[in-house]
Formats: sequence, structure tokens, C-alpha cells
Amino acid sequence: MFENLSERLGGVFDRLTKQGALSEDDVKTALREVRVALLEADVSLPVARQFVKAVEKKATGAAVTKSVTPGQQVVKIVHDELIAVLSGEGEPGKLKIDNPPAPILMVGLQGGGKTTTTAKLAKRLKERDGKKVLMASLDVNRPAAMEQLAILGTQIGVDTLPIVKGEDPVAIAKRAKTQAGLGGYDVYLLDTAGRLSIDEELMRQVEAVRDVANPRETLLVVDGLTGQDAVHTAENFDTRVGITGVVLTRMDGDGRGGAALSMRAITGKPIKFVGLGEKMDALETFEPDRIAGRILGMGDIVALVEKAQQTLEAEQAERMMKRFQKGQFNMNDLKMQLDQMMKMGGMGAMMQMMPGMGKMAKQAEEAGMDDKVLRQQIALINSMTKVERANPQILQASRKKRIAAGAGMEVSDLNKLLKMQRQMSDMMKKMGKMGKGGMLKQAMR
Ligand code: GDP
Repeated sequence: MFENLSERLGGVFDRLTKQGALSEDDVKTALREVRVALLEADVSLPVARQFVKAVEKKATGAAVTKSVTPGQQVVKIVHDELIAVLSGEGEPGKLKIDNPPAPILMVGLQGGGKTTTTAKLAKRLKERDGKKVLMASLDVNRPAAMEQLAILGTQIGVDTLPIVKGEDPVAIAKRAKTQAGLGGYDVYLLDTAGRLSIDEELMRQVEAVRDVANPRETLLVVDGLTGQDAVHTAENFDTRVGITGVVLTRMDGDGRGGAALSMRAITGKPIKFVGLGEKMDALETFEPDRIAGRILGMGDIVALVEKAQQTLEAEQAERMMKRFQKGQFNMNDLKMQLDQMMKMGGMGAMMQMMPGMGKMAKQAEEAGMDDKVLRQQIALINSMTKVERANPQILQASRKKRIAAGAGMEVSDLNKLLKMQRQMSDMMKKMGKMGKGGMLKQAMR
């Protein structure tokens, strides 16, 4: 589904990874090509721009690992950034359908694949999740659409709400709810009417249905081949009715795939599934890491860099532990810890993981030790000279003033940091004395 983009990026990175050393210009040129490739795949300009910027920033700040080439490292960064741009919260493919009967509202434009997707999803819920599913068509303007859903229902062995002529969509939604409750269904899918374009009447109808159905999930079904139009449609539906996720259909075609890449970044809504054909099982969970892998087609390199990073981190940890055991803990060590904490999701997250530090994590949180504080502390350390970092005890008033000013902070902030370094240094000494098998070893694991 991303053949063209994949081919283009493949070309860029093949060249990049073959080179031993990379200049800043090499990376810039490559990233310019990445940007063009994204735009050609119909990724929206702001998203493409932001993507390349994020990669550039990470590429310049990346810790250099000896065992991989800079080009390989760039591939890994692009790979991670692809995952980031594609990811939503929660587990891919999971829908909020506990508390039966759970209503799912299917919305979208006519011809986008809404009815087909409703049936595909019903089949999936029945077969994979063992749910008892009911489907109901609310498309009163197109009797053929109602028939279509009933036929698909028979085909996949899923019940559909009997068609009653002359009923309006809200009444059908109510009847579906009652029927789902009485019949002991786990989930019921409401296939709303579509229009060729977004119009006021359609939106009002969908809103009215939403208000009576109170859906657990509202999924927009949209044709992935329409590129940026798909993203606009999603924005519109989200503003009016509020969607919880997107299903991109026709991703089996030779579309440019840009909709998939822009969707989450622009609408903030995750793609939950992709349609890959007309058949009833042609519905796939949208898994960002697999999709990123498919787009880049460079799984080997990604795995290689991951392994090298792990080795590097293990080596760093080992070195640090040796220093700590000797009771050495200066500003360089503190900075390394702070950087690590930032990477691991902040101070609280890190301390939660260390044995016996859960309480401290809570205190830190209460004291407002969030990422902002971490960043400020790192800035203060960056503002010190090499000698000062290695020997923080030499810091007197004039040096402190200079350092604080350099980081745009107050001397009192610096004093807090120094106190923290002293406390940690003391703690390290104590832990070091507990020996190799002690708490420190456990904490570093
Ligand atoms: P609706 O008007 O939104 O309900 O659209 P339909 O569900 O009737 O689908 C319109 C057409 O698109 C039908 O011929 C479907 O078979 C086809 N279709 C739906 N999803 C996909 C898909 O993922 N891939 C392909 N190739 N065709 C699809």
C-alpha cells in the first residue's frame, strides 16, 4: 500500500547507508529528498515539514554508536519518527466495547466503503473477539444500502436489524439499542447514511443519531485513495460529530498513502483499521510499527541499530556503576542521569522503576519535578565548564551567577541542583558500600 513512497525512501537511504562518514550536508540533502517523497505521497506540507525537522533534530543530537554507520542511524531515526507520526493511544485495533451492548457508530461519505467496512468489522468482532454482534443500517434514503447490509449479514453470519419501512434513522437507532439489549448482543454497529459530499443535513442526521445512541466508538470510514481530502473529511466529521478513530479503505490500491501519514498528525485521531480489498476479511489492524517497517523496508538496519543502542546503554550503565561504587558522582553523572530520565518519560517514571524509590517519585511529582524542571537542570549543567562539571564543589558566588545567567535561571535554582547532586553523591557512596550485589546493582538493571 505504500509502494511508491517505500521505493523513493529506499533509494534515498540506500545511498545514505552505503557511505561511511556523513557530513551535515549529506544528511540535509537526504532529508530534502525525504520531504519531496512525502509530498509526492500526498502527505500534507506541514506534516512533511515537521517530520523532517524532527528527524533532523534527532539526527544531530544522536549518541554516536561505533558499530553502526551514521546512515544506518538516520534510518532508525526516520523509522521511529514514522511510528510516532502514525501512533495513537491504546493498543492497535482495540475498540472500547466492554459493557454490553456497546454501540459503534459508523460514519462517512457515500462510496467510501462504510457498509462494506461495517460488515468486515462485524465479522472480525465475531470471529476474533467472540462477540455477539448486531448490525443496523440507518440509510433510509437508499433502500439498496439497507438491503446490501442485510445481504452481507447473511453472508458472514451476523444478525441485522429487520428493516421497517418508513422509520427515521433516530427511531432505527433506538430500536437497535432495544434489540441489542433484549437479544443479549455484545456490540451493535450503526451504519449511518452517507452523502456524496459533506452537507448540513447529513451532519444533523448523524448528530441526532449520536445523541440517542451514545456510541462507545465513532469510526469514520474514508477512502484512503483520496489523500488529503480524506484528512479534510475526517476533520469535518470530527468537528461536527466527534470521531474516535478512522478506517482507511482502498489501501490495497496503488494510492500514495499520504492520508495515512497525515491523518493522526492533523486530526489527532488514530487510524484503527485499513481496508485492503472488497472481501469480508480484507480488514487489517493498523499497527504503526508494522506500517513503518513496510514503508521503510529496512527492518535489518533498524534491528541492527537497536541492538547497538542497547549495547551502548549497557556499557554506559556499567561505567557509571563502577564510578558510583567508588562514590564518585559529579555533574557529568547527574547530567547523564537527567538525560536518561528525560528519555524514559521523566523523573517520576524513572524512580517508579527503581526499587524502594516509589515514595520519592511521588514527592518529586508533588514538588513539581516534571520534564520542565529536568530540562532546566540540564540547561544549568550545560552552562558549566568542563572543570566545573567534574568538580562542582569549586562553585562560588561569581561562578554560580555566571552559570545561572547562562541558563536563564536564578542562582537559587542552581543551589537546588547542587544540593541534589550532593545528596545523590552521598547516596551513591552509601549504596556503593553495600557492595556489588546490593541495591545499586539492582537499580541499574
Ligand atoms: P458506502 O457507500 O460508504 O457504504 O460504500 P460501500 O461499502 O458500498 O463500498 C463502495 C465500494 O467500495 C464497494 O464496491 C466495495 O466493495 C468497495 N470497497 C470498500 N472497501 C474497500 C477496500 O478496502 N478496498 C477495495 N478495493 N474496495 C473496497
